[in-house]
Amino acid sequence: MTYSGNLICRDCGLTFTARWGSLPEADEYRCEGDHVVLVEVAGGRVLTVDGSPTGGFTLAELRGLCPLCESELRAGQLPACPICGGRDHQVLLANWD
Ligand SMILES: [Zn+2]
Ligand SMILES: [Zn+2]
Repeated sequence: MTYSGNLICRDCGLTFTARWGSLPEADEYRCEGDHVVLVEVAGGRVLTVDGSPTGGFTLAELRGLCPLCESELRAGQLPACPICGGRDHQVLLANWD
C-alpha cells in the first residue's frame, strides 16, 4: 500500500504532507536518517536509494543497513518529521492504493 496525506507531528506539532508505503513490487524501508530504500519483493534486490537507482546490490549484502548513512533500515515506518525528526504522528490520510 502507498499512502499520502498530512502527518501531524506529536512531538513538535508540525503538519506536513508526505508519501510513504510499499509498492506492489517493492517494499519500502527507511533508516534513522529517513533515507527511503525500495527493495524488490522477489529476490531482495535494492531498486532505489532515496530515489536514485542502484547498482543492483541486495538488502542482505547491505546487512540491513542504509547505504547512505549506515543506520538500520526498517520496514513499515512513517516518514520522519522534517523539523524534529520524530516519527510519532497523527495521520490524516488523503489517498491510498
Ligand atoms: Zn516534529
Ligand atoms: Zn540513511
